[in-house]
Amino acid sequence: MNLKRIAVIGAGTMGRGIAQVLAQASREVLLYDADPRAREQGLASIAARLRQQAAKGRLEPAASEAAIAALQDIDQLADIDTADMVVEAVPERLDLKLAVFAQLGQFAGPKAILASNTSGLDIDALAAESGRPDKVIGMHFFNPPPTMPLVEIVRATETSDQTFAAVMALAQDLDKTPVAVANSPGFAVNRILFPMINEAIYALAEGVASAEDIDRVMVLGASHPIGPLALADYVGLDVTLDILESFAQRLDRAKYRPCPLLREMVAQGALGRKTGRGFFSYS
Ligand code: NAD
Repeated sequence: MNLKRIAVIGAGTMGRGIAQVLAQASREVLLYDADPRAREQGLASIAARLRQQAAKGRLEPAASEAAIAALQDIDQLADIDTADMVVEAVPERLDLKLAVFAQLGQFAGPKAILASNTSGLDIDALAAESGRPDKVIGMHFFNPPPTMPLVEIVRATETSDQTFAAVMALAQDLDKTPVAVANSPGFAVNRILFPMINEAIYALAEGVASAEDIDRVMVLGASHPIGPLALADYVGLDVTLDILESFAQRLDRAKYRPCPLLREMVAQGALGRKTGRGFFSYS
């Protein structure tokens, strides 16, 4: 299956990165966002990033300009009708993603594959809304998409072999390592990562060690590139809380219950890097 022309829905943190990766792999990219400013800023920031890479000698200037030329913004969703595939990257809210998948099913060409970059919502629910469940799949990139090598590929109950094979091949062509995982809450990475972050917060709350030392032992003793508390600050403590709450709800297990300290910090507006304060301070 030739996935030459790909629409990206949502031009935020992830949509921008995914659009850049696709453009650098010679795909024609259509970028849509419900917020016109996000669309404009998205295209401008991708172009700036690509030119910066060229200026640093990490990318041929011609390759950088070719990728920029491959990107185009669209101001209405109906314009995805010429795309071979759509990658959805709107915020992680099930109600929003269900509405978007209903629209994608309506506007995308009948053969188009519809992929979601959800971090762990139910792909079956999105597939049911689309009216074409055999063509729906999870394609979970990591942040930042241009540098993170993994893509989790999530088959839903009715995802066809053809859709799965085409998306695995696309991920390889993007120079990523695709790993197939089951359609379960948080897939594999977040299912393992967030309980560990929660445990680090419990360790802090119970006085096992200071925040600095908890991160230091995990970097030096477990060879993690970044400590779990600094990682939580990077992800956002509100997002971390939402993810743990959704695990506790969907997996119905006490072990995912968010640490009370995490709840207190979110209630106080200490959300991590984005507010300048989380487990650590940022100026
Ligand atoms: P974001 O808030 O940075 O960007 C989302 C964009 O979607 C915004 O620009 C917003 O205007 C746009 N949008 C909202 N409603 C829309 C609609 N109906 N149609 C079109 N555009 C719409 O969010 P993000 O961090 O890029 O996350 C997007 C998805 O990627 C989520 O599912 C998230 O779980 C997943 N994800 C995020 C990360 C991360 O670290 N940020 C990592 C992996 C996966």
